[in-house]
Amino acid sequence: MDTSAFDVDSNKVLFGSKSVTKLPDEIKRLDSSSPLILTSKGKNGIVHGEMLSKILTDASMSPAAILNVAVMHTPKTVTEEALKHLKARGFDCIVSIGGGSVVGLGKALSIRTGLKHICIPTTYSGSELTPILGETENGRKVTRTDPKIQPDFVIYDVDLTMSLPVATCSYSGVNAIAHAVESLYAVNTTPTISKLALEGIKELAEALPAIVQHPDDRAAREKAQHGAWLCGVCLGSSAMALHHKLCHTLGGSFNLPHAETHTIILPHAVAYNAPAIPETMEKLASILPDSKADAIQGLNSLVEKLKVSRALKEFGMQAEDIDKATDIAMSMQYANPRAMERDGIRELIRRAWAGEPAR
Ligand code: NAD
Repeated sequence: MDTSAFDVDSNKVLFGSKSVTKLPDEIKRLDSSSPLILTSKGKNGIVHGEMLSKILTDASMSPAAILNVAVMHTPKTVTEEALKHLKARGFDCIVSIGGGSVVGLGKALSIRTGLKHICIPTTYSGSELTPILGETENGRKVTRTDPKIQPDFVIYDVDLTMSLPVATCSYSGVNAIAHAVESLYAVNTTPTISKLALEGIKELAEALPAIVQHPDDRAAREKAQHGAWLCGVCLGSSAMALHHKLCHTLGGSFNLPHAETHTIILPHAVAYNAPAIPETMEKLASILPDSKADAIQGLNSLVEKLKVSRALKEFGMQAEDIDKATDIAMSMQYANPRAMERDGIRELIRRAWAGEPAR
């Protein structure tokens, strides 16, 4: 029996094909009737917004307003513009549909207005399950945690993920795996969170290569979405360590893309921590396909199978940034299983920059 004290923020979650059609019922359940729909910039944002608008109109709700302005890292300038729009009309709830970027804008608006927030995630970022909000201002990303940031309701409709490009599935899916991996050795981990984490990692590690092989494999996309949910619950309930802090630093300081950075760093961060987490390494090796009883081999092999980029230099990071990144990483204070040793951290960043496998 796991007798740990739990700090799991729960929100109602709905799964399944066509579950998005339940949106009008859920808006009413939250005592709302006039939603502002948030989507990302780009074609898929327009398609998603129009689809939701039709669902609401068909349910005899007033036609929804669509704002497709969300971009990565939730810049405060975008939030301020969206806030003006929100206040100018009498919206009484927020619906965000898209990846973590859109969910981030929804969170930023909801915490500023107190409006209910429904999320319809179409990637595997897991942001919809956390009370965490990262916002950027003048090129600096600041993260805060507040229970009021946690969205009120989540709809996981696999149909909406079928258009997600394979590479985005892979990057975003490994981002989700990273949440669960770090929850395994979090200072506040529990046996139950560990079980959720291992199941989430296993589902994603099986589903993502299947999606690469067969992008139309609905069952694999459904499994990936379920795994991402489990991993997101782990993120929302656990203190993150080296991997997340390093990705945060690299993304913010060198303008690197979020999920891609997570994907490249994860095997290296795990390899750095490995000497301090032998039990976690064993558990990970037992669920990662092709691990040959070695979790680092399992992660290297997974990322290879996904055919994604493994080098930060391909995303614009320069060789001279390696020392700068090491300095910033060494200046940060947080709990991590292994003490921060400058040479080891520099080598971790160098290997990730060069695209070498972790070891
Ligand atoms: P994203 O939201 O930027 O989406 C990536 C790309 O995929 C975008 O171009 C988007 O338009 C496209 N896309 C999304 N769904 C699609 C679909 N169904 N079909 C076609 N294209 C689609 O990326 P992400 O990785 O989902 O989220 C990254 C952001 O989320 C970052 O800002 C990160 O900081 C944040 N995040 C926050 C938390 C948290 O708990 N606060 C957790 C994870 C990520």
